[in-house]
Parts: sequence; structure tokens; C-alpha cells
Amino acid sequence: MTKLGFIGLGIMGGPMAAHLAAAGHDVRGHDVSPDAAAKLEAAGGQAAPDIAGAVTGAEVVVTMLPDHPQVEAVVFGQGGVLESAAAGTLLIDMSTIRPETSIEIARRAEPRGIRVLDAPVSGGQAGAERAALSIMAGGAAADFEAARPIFEVMGKTVIHVGPHGAGQVVKAANQLVVGGIYGLVSEAIVLLEASGVDAATGLDVLAGGLAASRILDLKRESMVARRFEPGFRIDLHHKDMGIALAAARQAEVSLPMTALVAQLIAACRAMGHGSLDHSALLKVIERLSGR
Ligand code: NAD
Repeated sequence: MTKLGFIGLGIMGGPMAAHLAAAGHDVRGHDVSPDAAAKLEAAGGQAAPDIAGAVTGAEVVVTMLPDHPQVEAVVFGQGGVLESAAAGTLLIDMSTIRPETSIEIARRAEPRGIRVLDAPVSGGQAGAERAALSIMAGGAAADFEAARPIFEVMGKTVIHVGPHGAGQVVKAANQLVVGGIYGLVSEAIVLLEASGVDAATGLDVLAGGLAASRILDLKRESMVARRFEPGFRIDLHHKDMGIALAAARQAEVSLPMTALVAQLIAACRAMGHGSLDHSALLKVIERLSGR
């Protein structure tokens, strides 16, 4: 049994923390939303009123927050993780944020004796709920091995991908592929429907051939039915495309398809769909054809 502090109990963090509590760990969770913390209590964890309450005495602290400003506030802020955690604590940030912030967290944690991993995840809400996430970790190999039993409670694919920040780079690569596939599945739906072919039937064929993908498996039905409740919000994917393009600039590479998909996701947000699921990219592709 590990004493765990878990901060950020939203769509992803909620079920992840619940799995850790169900596996017998002592989980104290904190979220600015009291409803989120109450759900953790129902799952066998304890709700902490503030960050210090979740972190004090914890051997491992997990953060699962929207973006780098929230992670910086929680980790660096007054009464935050660096102030409240004891030397020897392992801090695992599982949020998707820019790699520079992950590197900065490790740099500022080191003099306090706090070890750090960036360990973003892929697999979506369904992956979090089924404890089937893909987890990509950056940081020291020994810290990754120490964290492995915790990761294995939440995920099925658990891989150490390199030093601090590398987990975030892999996640950026994941997000540009996911965005591209959503764009192309949307185009397939528009073409099928505009040609008078039943889109559900057409996508069933695609799902059985070389165009098969997890996105087609999990989302084709809801996309054809225009059900876009999140899931993963357009706002968050917009953030992730920004991270991918900034990483490309840093690495001095050209990613033209990523740039195009980023613009389409930005348009989706500008159309007022930021809080819908990222499969709502279909709405932009339809609009481009006047549909
Ligand atoms: P979410 O908005 O549902 O959850 C974030 C939680 O953090 C919320 O409950 C919010 O109240 C809480 N929070 C925000 N600021 C806080 C603070 N200062 N102190 C304490 N709690 C605070 O978001 P999510 O969908 O769970 O995503 C979390 C992270 O995981 C993001 O970085 C996202 O990009 C990534 N991610 C999401 C998915 C997905 O499918 N939703 C998949 C993979 C990765």
C-alpha cells in the first residue's frame, strides 16, 4: 500500500484515482471542484480540502490537471506540492503540458529532494475508466521503475520513453496523429453522405481494412449520429496542437499536416464548440462543404 496524493479529479483523474483506491492504496485527492472530490470518497479514497492536505505524508503525488498554468500553480504555488511534499516524494505529473514545463518542474524539485516524472496518458475517458491507458513516462529510469506498480493500476501500456520532457514529446506526437485521423474520418463521413452512401455502412468497411483505427472502432457510431458529448474536449486538443507545433519549432522540423489540423481545430473552437468532444471536428469539415 502506497500513500498517494492525487490532485485533479476530472474526467481522467477521477477514474484514475478511483482505480488506485480500489487497488488498496491510501489515496487522498484534491480538486477545486468539491463534486469531483466527493466522487473519490464514494470510490474509497479521501477528499482533501487543499493541496497540502493531499500531499503531506504522501510517498507519491500524482497531478492530472488541464494545462501548464494549473500545473505550475499546483506545483510551484504557495502551499503547493514543492512546499508541502517531503524530501524523497515522487511527483508524477500525468497532465498533457508543454515539455519545457516538465523540465522546469524537475529542475526546481531536485534541490528539495523531490523526484519527478512526466507521464502523460493516451486512451481517453474510456481508457481511464477501464484502467487501460497508454502511459508514456519521461525522467530517471529508477524513478520510472519505482512508479511502475502505480502505473500498472491505471494503464495497460506503460513505457519509459526518455529523460524529463520526453513523455510530453511522445504525447504531442500522439495528439497530432489523433487529430489527423479525426479530420480524415470526418472527411470520409462527409463524402459518403454527400454521395448518397450510408455512412455507418461505409465506415464499417473501413474499420475492417487498412484504414482501421481505434478511433473508427470507438467513435464512428457517435460521429455518424452527431453525438459530441466529451470525452476529450476540443479546447484541450487545441492546447495539444499548440504544444505539438511549439515542439516542432523547437526541434526545427516542418509538420504541415499538423499545422492544417491545428487550424481546423482552432476553427471548431471559434465556432463555439470548444467544450464538445474532439470528434466535433466533423462540424468544421461539414461547414466547409456547406453542409
Ligand atoms: P478535466 O477538466 O475534466 O479535469 C481537470 C480537473 O482539474 C478538474 O476537475 C478541475 O476542477 C481540476 N483543477 C483545475 N485546476 C485545479 C487546481 N488549481 N487545483 C486542483 N484541481 C484543479 O480534464 P481531463 O479531461 O481530466 O484532462 C486532464 C489532463 O489529461 C489534460 O492535460 C488533458 O489534456 C489530459 N488528457 C485528457 C484525456 C481525455 O480524454 N479527457 C485523454 C488523455 C489526456
